[in-house]
Amino acid sequence: MFLIFKTKTFLIVLAVIVALIGGSFVYLQFRPYTPPWSCTEPTDTVETPTPTESKYIRWAQFDLTNALLTQAYNYDVKSYGEENHLDWIDLLSYSVAKNYGNVTKASDRKKVGQYIDECAERLKKGEKIEDMAADLKYFPFYNEVYRAILSEFVGENRQGDTVRYGLKVFSPVAKNWSYSHHNDFGSVREYGFKRKHLGNDLMGSVGTPIIAVESGVIEAMGWNQYGGWRVGIRSADGKRYYYYAHLRKDHPFNNKFKEGDPVQAGDVIGYLGRSGYSTKEGVNNIETPHLHFGLQLIFDESQKEGNNQIWIDVYHIVELLKKNRSAVVLDSETKDWNRVEAI
Ligand SMILES: [Zn+2]
Repeated sequence: MFLIFKTKTFLIVLAVIVALIGGSFVYLQFRPYTPPWSCTEPTDTVETPTPTESKYIRWAQFDLTNALLTQAYNYDVKSYGEENHLDWIDLLSYSVAKNYGNVTKASDRKKVGQYIDECAERLKKGEKIEDMAADLKYFPFYNEVYRAILSEFVGENRQGDTVRYGLKVFSPVAKNWSYSHHNDFGSVREYGFKRKHLGNDLMGSVGTPIIAVESGVIEAMGWNQYGGWRVGIRSADGKRYYYYAHLRKDHPFNNKFKEGDPVQAGDVIGYLGRSGYSTKEGVNNIETPHLHFGLQLIFDESQKEGNNQIWIDVYHIVELLKKNRSAVVLDSETKDWNRVEAI
C-alpha cells in the first residue's frame, strides 16, 4: 500500500512537472510579440544626433583591361546621339559588379565581357541601369570608383565648328614619338626604401615631348628626390592627380607653363629624361630614360599625402590612350614643342 501510494504520488508530481514545462514551452513559443521599445513615448522626441563620420572611399584598385574598356567605349561612342545613349561607365560598373568585382583572371574577364554585351542589349531596348543594377550590391561602389577615374575621358570635342565625340584625354607621349612599356605596377623598387612601383614606366628617347593626359591645374612643377624633375596636374573635379616624373635634366618643362597654371589635355608639359633618385636638384640617377606616369585617386583631401594614398594601375589606361595622341611641332625660337591641334 505504502509502495503504491509512493508510486502514485511520484506519478502525480511527474505529471505536474511535465505539464509545467510543456506549458511554459508553448507560452514562450506563442506569446504575443512585444517590441523592445515603448510605443507610448511622444512621437516628437528629438533623436540624439550621432557624430557624422565623413564617408568616402578609402581604397580602390583598377583591374580593367584595355579590351574591356574599349568594348564599353565603342558602345558609348556608337550610340552617341541615339535615343538610348549607352554610358560606358555604367556598362563597366554593372558588368564588374555582376561578376562580384572579379576581373583579374582571364575567365572572369571573359564573363565581364559577356555581361557588357548583355547590358548593352538591354539598355538599347530601353531598360534603365538603375533598375537593372538595383539588386547588384557592389554597383554603387564600382560606379563611384570608375566615375572617379574615367568621368572626363569621353565626351564632346569641339574643334572650330565641328564636334567630335570620343576620347577627350590623350596619351602621355606625343604622336609619332615611340615608346615601349609593360605592366610594371606593383613591382619592387629599391632606391631609398623598398617599396612598390605605383605607376607605369614608358621607355623612350630623351627629349620626347610629354603630354598632359587630362586638363587641369599644375599643382607641382619642380624637383623631388624620387621623381626628379616632375609635373603634377590636378583634374578640375579634384579627384585625379596625374604625375609625370624623371623629366629631362636640362629644359625639363615646357617654358610656357609654371606651377598654378591651367593646362589643356593634349598640351606639351615637359620632356622625357632620366632625372631623379637624388636629393640634389638636376641630377640624372635613373639608368634608362623613361617617363614615370602615375595616377592618384583622391576621394578626400586627406588621401593626397601620407599613408592613405590610392595610386591605380594605369598600364591599360595608357594602352587605351593610344587611340588619341597629340601631334606636336617644334618652336625653333623657344626650343619647346607645342601641340599642333588648335583648341
Ligand atoms: Zn616608374
